[in-house]
Amino acid sequence: MPTWDYSPAPESRELAKLRTSYGMFIDGRFTAGTGATFKTINPADEEVLAEVCEAGEADVDRAVVAARTAQETVWGPMPAAERGKYLFRIARIVAERSRELAVLESLDNGKPIRESRDVDLPLVAAHFFYYAGWADKLGYAGFGHNPQPLGVAGQIIPWNFPLMMAAWKLAPALATGNTCVLKPAETTPLTALVLAEICQQAGLPPGVVNVLPGAAATGRALASHPGIDKVAFTGSTEVGKEIARSAAGTDKRLTLELGGKAANIVFDDAPLDQAVEGIVNGIFFNQGHVCCAGSRLLVQESVADELLGRLKHRLATLRLGDPLDKNTDIGAINSAEQLARIHALVDVGDAEGAQRWSPPCELPAQGFWFPPTLFTGVSQAHRIAREEIFGPVLAVLTFRTPDEAVEKANNTPYGLSAGVWTDKGSRILWMAQRLRAGVVWANTFNKFDPASPFGGFKESGFGREGGRHGLAAYLDC
Ligand code: NDP
Repeated sequence: MPTWDYSPAPESRELAKLRTSYGMFIDGRFTAGTGATFKTINPADEEVLAEVCEAGEADVDRAVVAARTAQETVWGPMPAAERGKYLFRIARIVAERSRELAVLESLDNGKPIRESRDVDLPLVAAHFFYYAGWADKLGYAGFGHNPQPLGVAGQIIPWNFPLMMAAWKLAPALATGNTCVLKPAETTPLTALVLAEICQQAGLPPGVVNVLPGAAATGRALASHPGIDKVAFTGSTEVGKEIARSAAGTDKRLTLELGGKAANIVFDDAPLDQAVEGIVNGIFFNQGHVCCAGSRLLVQESVADELLGRLKHRLATLRLGDPLDKNTDIGAINSAEQLARIHALVDVGDAEGAQRWSPPCELPAQGFWFPPTLFTGVSQAHRIAREEIFGPVLAVLTFRTPDEAVEKANNTPYGLSAGVWTDKGSRILWMAQRLRAGVVWANTFNKFDPASPFGGFKESGFGREGGRHGLAAYLDC
């Protein structure tokens, strides 16, 4: 339990400037579209936040045509330095409106305001700033002297980092001269729609960015549309495979950023208190709704008891509750469906014989909540050690030697990220060479930077986002 209680420190929800309804953004204008509407709710209390128009096939068609026209007549021919100026402008407006966007993100997604304000929003602005800088330097990026855009990109993003994923998709695509049709997740459409408004505010030419809210059917219509040149998808491995099948046999380019089951590996010479912070950040950041979450803790047997003792003590200090409270560490689970998925896998953990532990933690009566949880006595065959839970649930395993750590860490169908905690630089390098993971963090976890490429091996997908590598995904090279 917390050693003392904090008084509530809620951020004002008025800052979000919520509207009762939101349209879709096609060809520079907000429109009602041809489909039905759906409600988006606050997962912390199940209150309806707004009605949102759902894009149907005809809307997908219109958006793709608008994007094609804009690419061929305006955005593609535009001098690259001019394109860069638009991106700088978007970055500046995002920074100016960051408080509004952070509150809106926390309302729609359930994540703590501390994270949307201090992690998501700064990274969103940084991403646009970073790729704005590349726009007129593509000839020096290592892809030939005059690399060309692919054309129109269809981009489908998940609900865990709604605005950040939108920035990761839009910024490199725009910097390289592509135009975009973006589909946010059904449960978190609002910040992408405000980002569309920011594109308007920045004077971005009509059709360069189009935003189509909707559910799986909208995503499917977009990914399979013959008028797009590229599909960029972040989400589940299952849907990623479906998209790969639909793109097979076409000349569409594809990048997939899928799930993960990352090992966070703590050696006996690691600074244990720092490692505890890294473990907490690795799996309880964003309620564990993180594809690169450190969801498997591998701890060297000789320090396992001590580390677990300290970790449990730390977990008892985490504050779960109102996402808009600035003291909150753990917010709401994004949807009833995701909560049901977490419960189902945790029940499997119990049934397979692992020992579940959570600190005493009162869950709010309304909304979708799950306490920070860890399982000990986990073996590699357990489903909780193999499948992505995508929630605040840590599976703890032990190892004795570095070789065993590598073998266990790599024993997964995924390969997105890993963490290594040790005092020895040579061991970090030895481990990094052997871990099959796109990102290996050393004595830290879940650190992101727009200059640093991110992406996976195996069932975590292919292609890189971020950094110079992220440009390649949108260039004909
Ligand atoms: P999905 O993969 O279903 O959703 C990701 C995006 O794809 C959403 O915009 C979704 O729309 C859209 N989509 C869904 N079906 C299709 C389709 N057939 N064709 C095109 N687009 C589609 O993830 P879920 O939200 O269902 O989450 C399920 C699991 O996936 C989680 O428990 C987690 O394990 C994993 N996941 C991994 C993420 C990652 O970052 N790697 C992110 C999110 C989830 P809509 O939301 O409207 O259905």
